[in-house]
Amino acid sequence: MQQEKKDIRALSKEELRDFFVSIGDKAFRGNQVYEWLWNKGAHSFEEMTNISKDTRAHLEEHFTINHIKVDHLQRSTDGTIKNAVKLYDGLIVESVLIPTETRTTACVSSQVGCSLDCKFCATARLKRMRNLNPDEIYDQVVAIHRESMLYHNRPLSNIVFMGMGEPLMNYKNVLLSIDKITSDEGLGMSPKRITLSTSGVPKMIKKLADDEVRFNLAVSLHSAIQETREKIMPFAKSFTLDDLKESLEYWYAKTKRIVTYEYVVWKNVNDKPEDIKALVKFCKYIPSKVNLIEYNPIDDGEFQQASDRAIDQYIEALEKNRIPVTVRRSRGKDIDAACGQLANKQ
Ligand code: SAH
Repeated sequence: MQQEKKDIRALSKEELRDFFVSIGDKAFRGNQVYEWLWNKGAHSFEEMTNISKDTRAHLEEHFTINHIKVDHLQRSTDGTIKNAVKLYDGLIVESVLIPTETRTTACVSSQVGCSLDCKFCATARLKRMRNLNPDEIYDQVVAIHRESMLYHNRPLSNIVFMGMGEPLMNYKNVLLSIDKITSDEGLGMSPKRITLSTSGVPKMIKKLADDEVRFNLAVSLHSAIQETREKIMPFAKSFTLDDLKESLEYWYAKTKRIVTYEYVVWKNVNDKPEDIKALVKFCKYIPSKVNLIEYNPIDDGEFQQASDRAIDQYIEALEKNRIPVTVRRSRGKDIDAACGQLANKQ
């Protein structure tokens, strides 16, 4: 049986250099190939024109380049673009380009499906099949950057890890992908323009702080009352608000970076004065801001967006307590590209 070829982009630059030395070539060749793979985005060894034919054939024999393929592209009337991305093993994830007046944001996936169980999220209904590799995450960003140039005539400005999956459950690969996105050998983007959104995995938030990451952190809070949070996000039974609070205090002490709480207000779930009071209290633990997200219905009507009045009450209470608050309007709803709607419908 033929041995499966290894994905060459799973190798670090050092490992690539070592490979060339091991076949009697120069270590420097590793740098050249690395540049082709990451900076120039080569899809095949053939493209590597400054590498000799023999060497290319040798690489071909040992490795593959597992590039993602944009299988299907949908464009919303508001300019949002959703990519259905096919991975080397045939699995599909989705990523989204979100243009506003001032920014173009890529929303990328970190897992195929999701292992968490948020009741209001369409992705949670898909079984978690596997973690994405660093290059599969990186490729989604490159694809969106190209589409941004093509359809909107401007480069990508921001990246959010708010697509399918829980990024902190794929910690190592997500961080490796961010290394590539921010490095000069990759896209050279500033980490300040990257936001990782987590449903709140305390242990891993502490790890982010220990690793001294320089990107932004957003936490999907949705309720600051333990009992309510458990109802809508059952995994919160194991990842409690107390632990989350402690991890965020740790994060702030180490990084001095403000955290964003993502928050949807639903009718009869978290639209009462006590819900607001609990959120205000939670927001005072460390410097933070709140992003109120519009609910994107996913089907059976179990959840409904709260009234405008309830949302205004949230805004009023937060502002009164000098906690910055913004309201995120949904984009790309007509193509199921909005938050929580990514579910491989195509
Ligand atoms: N797993 C990560 C990132 C993916 S979700 C996380 O939970 O943060 C990105 C954001 O969309 C999260 O804040 C999530 O709670 C929110 N979301 C999920 N389903 C939604 C829906 N139907 N409508 C609006 N926002 C939703």
